[in-house]
Amino acid sequence: MMTKSYSACKSFPFRSLTTQTIETSLTQQQPQERSDLLDITPTSNLFASTPTKALILSLVNLRLMSIEPAVKVGSVVMNSPIILSESDSVLKKSVLKIVKNTVYNHFCAGEDLKEVEKTVENLWKEGLKGIIDYGLEDADVSEDCDRNLKEFLKTIDMSSHLPASSVSFGCVKITAICPISLLKRVSDHLRWEYSHPSTGSSSAWKVPSFPVLSDSSPFYHTTSPPPPLTPSEENDLHLAHQRLSTLCQRCSDLNLPLLIDAEYTSVQPAIDHMTYSAMRKFNKMGENVRPIVYGTVQTYMRDSMERMILAADAAEKEDVQIAFKLVRGAYMSRETKLAGSLKEKSPIHSTISETHTFYDACMDIMLQKVSGGRASVVLATHNIQSGKHAATKVEELGIRKDDKRLQFAQLKGMADGFSLGLRNAGFNVSKYLAFGPVQMVLPYLLRRAEENRGVLTSSSFDQHLIRDELKRRLKAIAVLL
Ligand SMILES: Cc1cc2nc3c(=O)[nH]c(=O)nc-3n(C[C@H](O)[C@H](O)[C@H](O)COP(=O)(O)OP(=O)(O)OC[C@H]3O[C@@H](n4cnc5c(N)ncnc54)[C@H](O)[C@@H]3O)c2cc1C
Repeated sequence: MMTKSYSACKSFPFRSLTTQTIETSLTQQQPQERSDLLDITPTSNLFASTPTKALILSLVNLRLMSIEPAVKVGSVVMNSPIILSESDSVLKKSVLKIVKNTVYNHFCAGEDLKEVEKTVENLWKEGLKGIIDYGLEDADVSEDCDRNLKEFLKTIDMSSHLPASSVSFGCVKITAICPISLLKRVSDHLRWEYSHPSTGSSSAWKVPSFPVLSDSSPFYHTTSPPPPLTPSEENDLHLAHQRLSTLCQRCSDLNLPLLIDAEYTSVQPAIDHMTYSAMRKFNKMGENVRPIVYGTVQTYMRDSMERMILAADAAEKEDVQIAFKLVRGAYMSRETKLAGSLKEKSPIHSTISETHTFYDACMDIMLQKVSGGRASVVLATHNIQSGKHAATKVEELGIRKDDKRLQFAQLKGMADGFSLGLRNAGFNVSKYLAFGPVQMVLPYLLRRAEENRGVLTSSSFDQHLIRDELKRRLKAIAVLL
């Protein structure tokens, strides 16, 4: 099927090989998806090890997060001066306690490492692994970055005290270890150099990396030549690279791969530039050698597949294992608003079905590479259709379901039925575990609330599965009475 977005992309002067791969991926006849390869029923198999009390609590929290007025009131309260202030008023403590005992416990792993340990152990007993993420804020200055690095290292180190391989990945946001303003400046430079190749590069700070932009990338953020980086900016960038390298080295020592999150377009080129430079160092090809650094591809971006292929091709030429976490993308309204304010076309696909098509097509490309032993992929999604697509492709390509190079991941508290169905089918499945003091992870919780609104979310399917299981248990009790 030729998608609308592909026809729109075609007007760009693509590099021919990339065009060919994209064309093949989007037009190739897909095999009929086989439901038997990923069964999300019966609920008794999915929730066999989940106590009834936990199911009821999950149902209440998911319901709460999907009621629009409740979410609106919650957002207003969370953003109110009482909660945001430094004070420790009784009212603030009470509100945070309610949040902790409801949605926080549902979506987060705990306030400190001790609580996280318990969450990870519970997941481990269910046959799931954890991806531990300390909910750090973006950094404005280098001092904040140093403090954040220490927290990331502490989190990574904690995994070595947990049951062997109960933690599947470490996780980092580059925006917490490199000042945001600097990521914007570097992204401006990368965009300007790409769109004005004749001006030549005078960027001594530009470390060897893979391509981060393509002809169809958005360039509207940078409309004039950016002033060169100052010596102090160059120094800060050098320090940021060092922080990432320190983190990767620690992960490498613990044999724990590291997921690097993707953000929004004004900073993403710089993030990818840093990520690929770390991949060149820590993902060398070799038999039975696992890659350490995973970048993130947001397939809601029109240019995502083209950029993914360019980076993967460059990695292959240098004997580097490419490793990606595939997501659809979380900054849709921010991107659309920015493009709209500049009277530019949104860089996001114009319909959700185009995003779905690109997600599955990017997945196919990565799975093909996994089957050739040249790549690793984390399919980070709650979308059951994509899960079925993956299961069918894995079967077709003859990839072992427990191959470490293929992993699935969902957020804690979301799509639990899907996670357990994938586990039952034999795949490696992890839950992404945000942790930290309640007040610190509030922005994360508000994003979850945003995602869970509406009737067509994965949350409504979760609620449906839990209700079915509770009914089944009630009936079983009734028979005994
Ligand atoms: C383990 C994990 C790690 C993650 N890491 C990141 C990360 O690093 N960076 C990041 O940005 N996100 C990240 N996410 C969030 C992710 O991008 C999605 O927001 C979220 O997972 C919902 O997508 P889904 O695949 O579950 O799909 P679905 O629920 O099937 O689809 C929802 C998604 O479709 C897209 N969409 C919705 N409406 C439209 C529309 N009208 N047009 C085009 N597209 C549309 C949006 O991306 C939306 O999030 C992560 C998610 C997980 C599970």
